[in-house]
This record gives sequence, C-alpha cells and structure tokens, in this order.
Amino acid sequence: MRMNSSQIKHFDYIFTGTGLASLMTVYKMVLSGKFSDKSILLLDKDSKKTNDRTWSFWEKEQSIWNSIISKKWDSALFANENFKRDLELKPYSYNKINGLDFYNFVFEKISNQPNITFLNEKVTDINELETHVFVGTEENRYTCNYLFNSIYTKAFAESQTKYPVLQQHFLGWFVKTEIEIFNPEQATFMDFSVEQKGNTRFMYVLPTSKSEALVEYTLFSEKFLSKEEYENEIQLYLEKLGINQFEIIEKEQGSIPMTSYPFWKKNTKKVLNIGTAGGWTKASTGYTFRNSDKKSSQLIEFLQNESLKMKDFHKRSRFWFYDLLLLDILYRNNELGCSIFSSLFKKGNPALIFKFLDEETSLIEDFKVILKCPKIPFIKSLFRVIFFRNK
Ligand SMILES: Cc1cc2nc3c(=O)[nH]c(=O)nc-3n(C[C@H](O)[C@H](O)[C@H](O)COP(=O)(O)OP(=O)(O)OC[C@H]3O[C@@H](n4cnc5c(N)ncnc54)[C@H](O)[C@@H]3O)c2cc1C
Repeated sequence: MRMNSSQIKHFDYIFTGTGLASLMTVYKMVLSGKFSDKSILLLDKDSKKTNDRTWSFWEKEQSIWNSIISKKWDSALFANENFKRDLELKPYSYNKINGLDFYNFVFEKISNQPNITFLNEKVTDINELETHVFVGTEENRYTCNYLFNSIYTKAFAESQTKYPVLQQHFLGWFVKTEIEIFNPEQATFMDFSVEQKGNTRFMYVLPTSKSEALVEYTLFSEKFLSKEEYENEIQLYLEKLGINQFEIIEKEQGSIPMTSYPFWKKNTKKVLNIGTAGGWTKASTGYTFRNSDKKSSQLIEFLQNESLKMKDFHKRSRFWFYDLLLLDILYRNNELGCSIFSSLFKKGNPALIFKFLDEETSLIEDFKVILKCPKIPFIKSLFRVIFFRNK
C-alpha cells in the first residue's frame, strides 16, 4: 500500500520499528484471533530481509518459536583462568535462532492478514495529541489510536547520570576450522580466561558442528573498543584453543545497553515503548529475547482491557533493584565482573540461576543465588544506592 503525502491514513495500532519486540507482539496478536478487527501498521526503515543478528536464549518448555530454533545445547561451559565447570542445563536448554529465520517466519504469518500493513519507511516524527498519535515518516504521515514504539533513543538513558549505563558490546566470527575441535553439544557461556585489562571481558562460543562455531569477544563495560582489538582477541583465543587454520564465514557485531534506567516512565496514555526502548532488555545480562517473549504475551492480555492506558502496563519488581546493584558495582569497578560471575557459576545451581535471571524465583531462592556472590561489593552498593543515588 502506498499513499500520497497529502493523505493521512488512520490505524488502530501503529508499531514504529518492526524488530523483535514488535514482530513477537504482532505474531501473537494474529495467533490469538482477538485483533482481526484492528487495523495495524508496521513501520521500519529496514526491510528485515537480512540476517542481522543471532538470538540465543534459554527455555524450559517448547515454545511457538520451536520450529525456527537452529541449534539447542543441554550443556554449557563456564571458565576462568583457574577453573572450568560443565553446567548441566536441564530442565532448560540453550537455543539459537537466526535473525532472518525469525523475520521470515513472522512475515509469512502476517503477510496474508488483510488488517496488517508493513511499510519500509523511516520514522521521523512521533507526536501524541489529545485524541490520537501522529506519526511522520520520510514519505508519509499517519495517525493511530495507540502507538507501540521500539525505536531506541540512545540519549534518554545515556545522557543522564542517575542510573549507570554499561554496554554489552561484542564482535564475533562465525568460523569454519580445518580440524574438528569444537564440542557441538556444549556452548561456552562465559570464558573469563582472557585478559581482563580492568574490565569484564569474556569469550562466548556457540559451536554448531565439530568444525563450525560463532566465537564472540564480549565486554560488559562503558566504552567500545576498536574493531582490531576485538578481532585480535578472537585470533588469540582461537590460537589458544589450537586453531590455526580457519575460514571466517560471517561476522556479527553489536552492542546492547545494560541499564536500570526506567524507560517505562516515557510511556503515556497512548504510547507504549516496547523492546529495548521499553526496558525489556534484562539490565544485568543484555538478554532480550526471553523477556520480549514474556512481555509480548502480557501485552496481548493487557490490550484486551476495556479501559486502556499504556502507562499502566509496566510493573516494577525487586529484580529491577538487584540489576541496579550489579550494574552499580560493574560501573564503578568494572574489573569485578570476573570474580562476581565466577562465584555465581562455580557452585551455583545453573537451573536456579536461569530461573533467577528469568525473574521467576521466590524470595528464598533469590537469596540462595545472591549469597553465592561476593558480599562486600553488594553491601557497599546497597548503601550507595539507598543513601547516595540522588546526590
Ligand atoms: C547483534 C546482536 C545480537 C544479539 N543477540 C542476542 C541474544 O543472543 N539474545 C538476546 O536475548 N538478545 C540479543 N540481542 C539483544 C536484543 O535481543 C536485540 O537487540 C533485539 O533485536 C531487540 O529487540 P527490539 O525490538 O527492542 O529492537 P530491534 O529488533 O532492533 O527492532 C527495532 C527496529 O526499529 C527499526 N528502526 C530504528 N530506527 C528507526 C526509524 N527511525 N524508523 C523506522 N524504523 C526504525 C530498526 O530497523 C529495527 O528493525 C542482540 C542484539 C544484537 C544487536
């Protein structure tokens, strides 16, 4: 559908940004069968036809995404310079979905829905008015009753100082090796045996066969590195594993904001921020897929309320506060990441840690996990956050 610029077409719902969070939500709207009377417009500056990312996430039961999972692992490795631990993940599995498989899967479902329109247009303006929301793109203008925004505005979180903002930043190589060296049954979650250089730095490896893997150099820190620095570290790591002959099939680079900044305060009566822009990224880990899956299901329920006010969607939990403490520590003493994660994974029960990160543990279970971490930094951070954060 194309419109000339003098027309303003009205929709019930507009999604600005059509990535993970929007596509999950719209896919579930279609599955539910409850939104077929709503006109829905999806806007994105990108056509969503490239494999722009790989999503990994843990899960207990099979979900609606099961058919597009390209690889599952039941075991994971945690390592640092002094120890290695094989983590038995059951009842969870660690899963991988290629971005393009996800986009194709969802678009196939929604493309034959007469009430849903996708337009490849760049959004330039969002303006909430008394009775509706106005959306301008480089080509057209639209209005809607409710807007779901997943366009991340860096400046909101990153131009304030009250809530620390770290980045999970990484560069990965999909490599094919001459020798069979990887264990395709085990993913490497965090290998801290790399030089820390005053930061939280680790290797993340997702092997898909004995000779193929995504090897990613990852930091949880404030500042990005030069491309060469990430790549030199991957090269060194491969050499350490005994890999000298390999081919780079593909590269992946990205950064995910890690912050407890309250994005939901930007929600209004008619505008809901979703995905990373709405605080759906787990602040302490950067994982977003699983959270978006849960939040999008909650959103489908929420939208069926009679008296809809988007700002009522978000509920803050104690897990937000735990994340705030960890980020406060890593922001001030970035070198402590290795010892904190090592203490957690050295003896902790992996399934309980996943449950905790999924924000599904009871208070007693929370303490079982938290007490595995070094106490002094957390106590100091608790005092700092309670007494000094507003100063
Ligand atoms: C390379 C990479 C790997 C990741 N891996 C994992 C992982 O393994 N597990 C995990 O849980 N999380 C991962 N994440 C984090 C997170 O899951 C993703 O960033 C996820 O895509 C966030 O979903 P979203 O809907 O918030 O944003 P996006 O999926 O990025 O969607 C936002 C959309 O907005 C569009 N857009 C932006 N500006 C405009 C504009 N002006 N007009 C129109 N459209 C616009 C973009 O094109 C994009 O399609 C990864 C992130 C990256 C970058």
